[in-house]
Amino acid sequence: MNPPILYIVVPCYNEQEVLPETSSRLLAKLTSLTERERISPASRILFVDDGSKDTTWAQIDALAKSDARFGGVKLSRNRGHQNALLAGLMTAKGMCDCCISMDADLQDDIEAVEGMLTAYSEGCDVVYGVRSSRESDTFFKRTTAQGFYKFMKLMGVDIVYNHADYRLLSSRALEALSQFKEINLFLRGIVPLVGYKSSTVTYVRSERFAGESKYPLKKMLSFAFDGITSFSVRPIRWVTGLGFLLFLASIIAMVYCLVVKILGYTVAGWTGTMLSIWMIGGIQLLCLGIIGEYVGKIYTEVKDRPRFIIEAVSLDPGDREGIVQQVTPVKD
Ligand code: UDP
Ligand code: MG
Repeated sequence: MNPPILYIVVPCYNEQEVLPETSSRLLAKLTSLTERERISPASRILFVDDGSKDTTWAQIDALAKSDARFGGVKLSRNRGHQNALLAGLMTAKGMCDCCISMDADLQDDIEAVEGMLTAYSEGCDVVYGVRSSRESDTFFKRTTAQGFYKFMKLMGVDIVYNHADYRLLSSRALEALSQFKEINLFLRGIVPLVGYKSSTVTYVRSERFAGESKYPLKKMLSFAFDGITSFSVRPIRWVTGLGFLLFLASIIAMVYCLVVKILGYTVAGWTGTMLSIWMIGGIQLLCLGIIGEYVGKIYTEVKDRPRFIIEAVSLDPGDREGIVQQVTPVKD
């Protein structure tokens, strides 16, 4: 089997301080992998400039012009990490056998690429890079990030613990990924939905090589919120459940209020006021939850996610053609 064509996709936003080091280290890795025939000489390093305001694009452009193994894509403006990453992945799709996405700041250990390629050669379509420890992170980043993964699990979102966006995807996993048309991108949630055989490679996450984090708390919170609301209708279910409980409680309150009234322990107007507060509150919340359920359904419909992705078809070659054509275009 020929060695695979690997594309390393690196989103960059104002990364002028780290780019010289990142590009030389990545090129050294690419050269060594090519020499050992682990990857094809057609492999590339693809930088995506996410609308940087510094010299990032000028550097990428110069790299691409000086060495054919570098490539660059420039977005018209800053669209955020996830979109920049997707832009790179979709550019690589069709040109590579597999691609690896990683951050520009050298926090993801480049050596883990070896393990990812081994897993790929053993037939994995998705290989997740998983951090073995978070010692290099600040206490704040560590706690918020771990809280985030736990909360996502609680909300029923299937994500890989301690895995960021350092991963290998095969060309068919990329193809499957391209079928997810949603605008609110949360790749960490979508990739597990793609399915196929997957495995993990652990690595120690180091500190940012230079420059500052491009994920301030505000961006991190909005990222987490996007992750939850794009993958889970559980919050709506909780509202419905709460509405139902309140409604039950209002029936009990109604019996209580009537008994108190019949026994004559009340002042005028108390029973009516109490009953309306309980009943209306409960019914309102229940109705809100029910409306929410429908909104949630509409939401999942408009996301237009593929309902399934076929991994293999085992049939007589003649029948196979027809079946594959019949089932593939079906969308959710
Ligand atoms: N990034 C990007 N667009 C943005 C923010 C970040 O392309 O709007 C890139 C950034 O250049 C880096 C990666 O996303 O390659 C991860 O960002 P960063 O290292 O700042 O995040 P952290 O590691 O602090 O979570
Ligand atoms: Mg980083």
